[in-house]
Amino acid sequence: MEPPPVRGVVFDLDDTLLDHRGSATRALGRWLPRLGASPDAGVVAAWFEAEERHFPRWSAGEITFTEQRRLRLRDVLPAAGVEPGDDEELDRLFAGYLACYQASWTVFDDVAPTVRSLHRAGVAMAVLTNGLGEQQRAKVAATGLAHRLGPVLTPEETGASKPDPAAYLTACARLGLEPGVVLHVGDRHDLDVEAARAAGLRAVHLDRRGAGPTDEPWRISSLTDLPAG
Ligand SMILES: [Mg+2]
Repeated sequence: MEPPPVRGVVFDLDDTLLDHRGSATRALGRWLPRLGASPDAGVVAAWFEAEERHFPRWSAGEITFTEQRRLRLRDVLPAAGVEPGDDEELDRLFAGYLACYQASWTVFDDVAPTVRSLHRAGVAMAVLTNGLGEQQRAKVAATGLAHRLGPVLTPEETGASKPDPAAYLTACARLGLEPGVVLHVGDRHDLDVEAARAAGLRAVHLDRRGAGPTDEPWRISSLTDLPAG
């Protein structure tokens, strides 16, 4: 039996709609030299490792959003040859990085045609992200498609972070749709595919960099490969 048609698409945001990794890399290229540091590949890799280490601790409720930023800087700055300083100094430094990050935001080229096509097909859309609401809404605004992308749901709105099933189910409820007709799309196989399926949604892995897992049965390399409703 054919599955029912997809009536809603829930997008992840970072590295799905917005090129977070590319934007952050360009931001480091602008920001680190201001601190007298070189944005070499080792420091850039350390930046993303520190993000991966500390950001989920905020999602899990272990530390505050500001603390995860300070911890990331405490990990990375010594590797870049910069003295981290006290909390106040760290907050000032992070504000400098953030300005560079925001100025570097880039939306993937396949987002606009895909969102327009889904809209024409009558498919409801939402954005589900573990980031901070204010910043994530600014990113969605930067796509120029906020009026089409629908509600932007962060842990502040849903009361849950991915991979908690409540996050995905809240997104479906906001679209007024049963999970079985909602497709979740994202770059993280664990958070965007496995956990979405566990919550009862359909899910597709957006694997832009070909990183795998290669045994994932529904893998696409571009949003334009999505079924248009
Ligand atoms: Mg992502």
